[in-house]
Amino acid sequence: MPETQVLIVGAGPVGLTLALDLGRRGVRCTLIERNTTSIQLPKMERCNARTMEIYRRLGIAEQVRDAGLPRDAPMDVFLALSMASPPLVHLPCPSVAEAKAEIAAHNDGGLLEPYQLISQYTLEPLLRSIVETLPTINVRFGCELVEFTQDAASVTAVVRAAGAPDETIRASYLVGCDGGSSTVRKQLGIRLQGEGNIRKLRQALFRCDDLYEKIPMGKGRHYHIAEGPLFPFIILQDSTRHWTLHAGASSDAEMAEIFKKSLAMPIDFEMISVNEWTQHLLCAERYGEGRVFVAGDAAHLVIPTGGLGMNTGVGDAIDLSWKLAATLEGWGGPQLLTSYEAERRPIGLRNVKASRAAMTGRLGWRAAYHLNVKDNTPQGAATRAEMSALFDTQQRKVTEILGIEAGYRYVESPIIWREPGDGPEPDNPSYVPTSWPGARLPHVWLSDASALHDRLGPGYTLLRLGGTHADTSTLEQSFRKMHAPLEILDVPGQRPREIYQSDLLLVRPDLHVVWRGNKLPQDAPKIAIVATGHLPPSA
Ligand SMILES: Cc1cc2nc3c(=O)[nH]c(=O)nc-3n(C[C@H](O)[C@H](O)[C@H](O)COP(=O)(O)OP(=O)(O)OC[C@H]3O[C@@H](n4cnc5c(N)ncnc54)[C@H](O)[C@@H]3O)c2cc1C
Repeated sequence: MPETQVLIVGAGPVGLTLALDLGRRGVRCTLIERNTTSIQLPKMERCNARTMEIYRRLGIAEQVRDAGLPRDAPMDVFLALSMASPPLVHLPCPSVAEAKAEIAAHNDGGLLEPYQLISQYTLEPLLRSIVETLPTINVRFGCELVEFTQDAASVTAVVRAAGAPDETIRASYLVGCDGGSSTVRKQLGIRLQGEGNIRKLRQALFRCDDLYEKIPMGKGRHYHIAEGPLFPFIILQDSTRHWTLHAGASSDAEMAEIFKKSLAMPIDFEMISVNEWTQHLLCAERYGEGRVFVAGDAAHLVIPTGGLGMNTGVGDAIDLSWKLAATLEGWGGPQLLTSYEAERRPIGLRNVKASRAAMTGRLGWRAAYHLNVKDNTPQGAATRAEMSALFDTQQRKVTEILGIEAGYRYVESPIIWREPGDGPEPDNPSYVPTSWPGARLPHVWLSDASALHDRLGPGYTLLRLGGTHADTSTLEQSFRKMHAPLEILDVPGQRPREIYQSDLLLVRPDLHVVWRGNKLPQDAPKIAIVATGHLPPSA
């Protein structure tokens, strides 16, 4: 009998999110992390709307917001000649409070939660502190995976803690959430495909207490400085007292100089750290083998423009988690775990592509830079005008991609019912609500002002909409026979029915739609068989 059900390697945001969901589902996990503390570097700073919906479902969205940027802080994006200049372009982006008010005022099938700015060095310790309260999760920092083997029944891992002899952990499954240089992926012999080592950049973290209050162009999140060839990019961190600078500097010391020049105001600052990072656009050729899987940066590496790194990894975690739990509970069929790669690898590839488009957009406006950009001449004005016009369109490929963040649909999945037709465009940068099988269930407000998402339990839910009297007993019996958890939820009112466009909707534990219709088909038991992963691939 394995001593742990799932061994999770890596306590970055993806491993921690996976542990949190598995722990809440009662799965016994060991989470090992080779570092002795959580990350100290800034790295990611924005949980997108889909990640925040996931965190809401995990019951931690408000904790994440409390730890992050204040809810009333604007998220605006600027292009300017310096932090002291008037903006060349100002792209307003709502604060969390404004975005929440918008969400509350509309019932149009959009997102339930807006984004949240929270620095990775704040998010990781928060997630860790929550995971450590779960009785089924054993969290071990300072413990490194060295190697593993697997057979038909289990995985045996050799782990190493400083000053202790190597130790063996046996698990039913192993998930490598161990980042871009993943030991797990390498041991499985899985290659990364795409473009690696595109460009090296430096990221520096500054403490600068007065800057936030003193920026003449206004408070925001991203400040792009129109100064080639380095194009300093200054990002607000969650405390409003910390800032990061990204630039292609040739030394650490140069980063402080670039920051000072970009400020162009007499403001004190302290440079806390500098690190070098490399841009990649890569996706693993496979997402696992046998009882071992990879998730997060171990499976895909994007350029963070567009924020599709950690956020894509959180999507992986939440897809894999319920499938592992279902398999361990005994009701999940063999196709459940197979579907992890079938569902998430296309999203990894798609998000690599979207990240490339976002980066190309950024390079597009930068290409219009000319040395005369600051000149008070017609030529200087023309350069500024061209850069600004390009920024105004191209930068939106970074900030306005809600469809990429939340509109993904599992198209070729063995556990999603095939509906005739092609379905809506799954790669649309704009989010268009749809209940097409494979899509995330759009959010709707119910007549008592509660959110339908909040009414859905940890298993499957069959939604009965618009007062339908359709007989659903055969489907219910099929789930019962397989001991798979199914709840029935009658949703009165016309609005949810209009948004979902069907009387009946079967929703999975991760809130993706499996099947929809106005009545059950003749072969209704097959819906349950497909949903729970029991349909053989050739059937
Ligand atoms: C400058 C920058 C800005 C970014 N901005 C964003 C953003 O705004 N939005 C976004 O979504 N993403 C962003 N990202 C990407 C984001 O930081 C990563 O996608 C995210 O950290 C991936 O999380 P992860 O848990 O998969 O991997 P990681 O965060 O890399 O965590 C992996 C963990 O595994 C541990 N580990 C590795 N090997 C072993 C082993 N053998 N044994 C035990 N432990 C091991 C590591 O120590 C590490 O803690 C940014 C990245 C950078 C560099």
